[in-house]
Amino acid sequence: ERIISGEADFQDISFEQSLRPQSLKQYIGQDKVKENLEIFIKAARIREETLDHVLLYGPPGLGKTTLAAIIANEMGVNIRTTAGPAIERPGDLAAILTALEPGDVLFIDEIHRLPRSIEEVLYPAMEDFCLDIVIGKGPSARSVRLDLPPFTLVGATTRAGSLSAPLRDRFGVLSRLEYYTEEQLTDIVVRTAEVLDTSIDGKAAIEVARRSRGTPRIANRLLRRVRDFAQVKADGTVDEQLAKEALELLQVDRLGLDHIDHKLLRGIIEKFRGGPVGLETIAATIGEEAHTIEDVYEPYLLQIGFLQRTPRGRVVTDLVYRHFQMEVPAD
Ligand code: ATP
Repeated sequence: ERIISGEADFQDISFEQSLRPQSLKQYIGQDKVKENLEIFIKAARIREETLDHVLLYGPPGLGKTTLAAIIANEMGVNIRTTAGPAIERPGDLAAILTALEPGDVLFIDEIHRLPRSIEEVLYPAMEDFCLDIVIGKGPSARSVRLDLPPFTLVGATTRAGSLSAPLRDRFGVLSRLEYYTEEQLTDIVVRTAEVLDTSIDGKAAIEVARRSRGTPRIANRLLRRVRDFAQVKADGTVDEQLAKEALELLQVDRLGLDHIDHKLLRGIIEKFRGGPVGLETIAATIGEEAHTIEDVYEPYLLQIGFLQRTPRGRVVTDLVYRHFQMEVPAD
C-alpha cells in the first residue's frame, strides 16, 4: 500500500467518516462545481422537484462521496449508497430502487463498473422513474412496468471515458472534480486538525499539503501519520520541523513523490536517457503492469509536468532532473 495512493485503504474508511464536511459551505475548493450545484439545488427546491441526475468524475480521493452526501443534505433528503460492482443482477437494482423514498439520492460509486444488463434497467428508471421487469420464462414471460418514486441518481467514476454514451447522456449535470491547490489543501489540513483536536502551525500545514498530490484523502492520511509522530516524539503539537521529519521518515518527498515514482522516473533517465520510451518497455523494466503505470502512477506525474506523453513514448522533463539535482542533458 502506498501512503500517497488516492484510493481509500482500510484505515481511511472509519477515519474519513468523521471528517466529511456536511454542507457546500464547508466543502473546500471545487468552486465551479459548487457554484453550479448550488444553483441547481436551489432551483429544484423552489420548484419542489427532485434534482437532476448528477455525474461526478475525477481521480480517487478528491471528494466525490463527500459531495454526494452533501447534495442529499442540501436537498434535505436521505442518501442510499452502493457501488457498480455490488449490483450483479437486475433484481439487486430493483430492490434498491423500490426501497427509495420520494426525492432520495441514490449514490452509485464506480458507476462505470455496472454490468451492461443492469445499465439497461437503469435507463427507464432515470428517465421516467419506472422499471420494466420481466416475469416468468419462455413463451409465458411478460413485461411489467413498475412505478418508482422520483429520485436523484448521483454517479461517481474515476473514468468518465469508460461510461457508455447512453448512460452518460442521461445525467443532467456532469461535474468534473479537479486536483486541489496547495492553499486549498492547507485549509483542509487545518480543518482536519481541528476536528482531530490536534494543534498544528501554519507552516507545518503547508508542508503536509504540498506533499498531498492535490488530493484531500492523502492530505488527511499524511496528517494522521504526522500526528502519531508528534504524539510519540514530542508533546503532540505539529510544527514545521516535526512535520518535515515525519514526512521524510514516511519517504514522501517534498512534492509528494514516493519510492515508486522515483523508480519510474529514474528508470527512464538511467535506462532510456530520459525517453521517449514506450509504456510496455517501462513496465517490463521496472516490473510493473502497464495499465497500473497508466492508471495509478502516471496521472500525477503528468499533472505536475514531470512526464510527457508523446507519439513515440514517455519522456521525462527538465523538472525531473532538477528535482533529483541532476544535470539537465543538453538535448
Ligand atoms: P473515492 O471515489 O476513492 O472513494 P472520493 O472522491 O469519493 O474518493 P471522498 O471519500 O469523498 O473521496 O473524500 C476523501 C476524504 O477527503 C474524506 O475524508 C473527505 O472528508 C475529505 N475531503 C474530500 N473533499 C474535501 C473537501 N472539498 N473539503 C474538505 N474535505 C474533503
